[in-house]
Amino acid sequence: MTEQAQLFIDGIWTDGSTGRTGAVIDPATGQPFATVAHASPADLDRALAAAERAFAEWRAVSPYERSKLLRAAANLLRERAPAIARLMTREQGKPLAEALGETVGSADHIDWYAEEGRRAYGRLIPARAPGVRQIAVKEPIGPVAGFSPWNFPVSQAVRKIAGALGAGCTIIIKCPEETPFSCVELVRCFIDAGVPAGVVNLVFGVPAEISEHLIPAPQIRKVSFTGSIPVGKHLGMLAAQHVKRCTLELGGHSPFIVCEDADPDEAVKLGIALKYRNAGQVCAAPSRFYVHERHYKRFVDAFVAGSEALAVGPGDQDGVTMGPLANARRLEAMEGFVADAEARGAKILTGGRRIGNQGNFFAPTVLTDTPEDARLMIDEPFGPLAPIAPFADLDEAIARSNSLPFGLAAFAFTRSERTATLLGDRLEAGMVSINHFGIAAPETPFGGTKESGYGSEGGSEGLDAFLQTKFISEVGLRDAAA
Ligand code: NAD
Repeated sequence: MTEQAQLFIDGIWTDGSTGRTGAVIDPATGQPFATVAHASPADLDRALAAAERAFAEWRAVSPYERSKLLRAAANLLRERAPAIARLMTREQGKPLAEALGETVGSADHIDWYAEEGRRAYGRLIPARAPGVRQIAVKEPIGPVAGFSPWNFPVSQAVRKIAGALGAGCTIIIKCPEETPFSCVELVRCFIDAGVPAGVVNLVFGVPAEISEHLIPAPQIRKVSFTGSIPVGKHLGMLAAQHVKRCTLELGGHSPFIVCEDADPDEAVKLGIALKYRNAGQVCAAPSRFYVHERHYKRFVDAFVAGSEALAVGPGDQDGVTMGPLANARRLEAMEGFVADAEARGAKILTGGRRIGNQGNFFAPTVLTDTPEDARLMIDEPFGPLAPIAPFADLDEAIARSNSLPFGLAAFAFTRSERTATLLGDRLEAGMVSINHFGIAAPETPFGGTKESGYGSEGGSEGLDAFLQTKFISEVGLRDAAA
């Protein structure tokens, strides 16, 4: 492995101009194993100049040609996926199979934007006067400042990079300092596919320094951030101050409702898989389980058994089904959530503690009797904690599901078409998935409502996020003279 993850600015891999670096830590051991270059203001200025210059060239490349380059990048990502997955597991902790699935799936996102970029249609609007042609066209908005998180180092960065490029924009992306190496390899796929210098620029550094430099910069026309709600609010304000378009994909606190008529065994199987994927560090993971009292005991028992059956260990070891938490901050956060819940009367049926004293391993944890005012029921846990609560009446479950100021994802199980429709209509979430896991495919919109953010990544909306509408009204000179 390269010892230092470098910046990529204007077609050149480089260390930061001041030589500043940060440590990259293996979450399975807690030990640093490499460094990541930090960008200085001068480095960011070079990236801004490059993104601006390259925008003039890239927007002039036909969508057909851009599509070919993006498809080539997708193919490289697929070919290189096994090696990239190993890097990701080392720096992020998730089991190798998950890292591989994420990387291969990310290639599909590139393919989607490669194609969707060719369909950035405008429209012809009938005019009031003869001879007048009124056209709405979609243009690439301009250079983008992207900020992607550490939980899915490749699949979060790819949505911003491929979306921007498919639309004809250039991008400066600040990828996560905790997990830089898989991001470096993702960017390399675009470069090796032939994307011109300056179109994709990759930086790392002190997040606040970078966002405060890039967002106000006049070259930047669009901000796209995925991460926590407090940081999203801050960046949203910064973008608003400078009237920059902004997409915010923030946290949530997703309810998972098991209705009276549901099959509890099917529900528990999916609940466990979604809860513990990536050790629960998934913005759309279920984080509050509301189970009809008829199934409550059976569901809780099965959830405990399933949680205890998980093999927790280093992600590169055979048979491991849940890796360590990605960083020590998450470990402290889990301990805090559990202590608070316990102090308020919650029962810990399994887990509830760190495993070992090396690395960030935390046991899959099931809680019952967690009061609705416990921090765990209010703040996104972003970890392997599963609070389960019974309900008697569906209206009550829906009200509890909608009671928080967030609305990213919601899940439900029911056998009734009528109930499924009602849940789809009434759950306040950007994405509702009923009887299966059906969110996050490239062709479907991904995003939240309320404080979970605004804008979508994925679907035709994902491309639209990087386009602006221009209206052109023209009348032929001959017509005007007539
Ligand atoms: P954090 O709030 O410190 O940071 C969240 C992300 O924002 C990180 O990627 C970080 O690098 C970046 N960031 C922080 N300050 C920034 C700034 N001023 N400008 C630009 N970027 C900035 O929290 P954390 O400890 O890294 O993560 C914990 C929380 O973040 C979780 O509880 C979860 O709610 C949220 N999170 C959400 C997602 C998601 O997919 N929506 C992903 C990762 C983390």
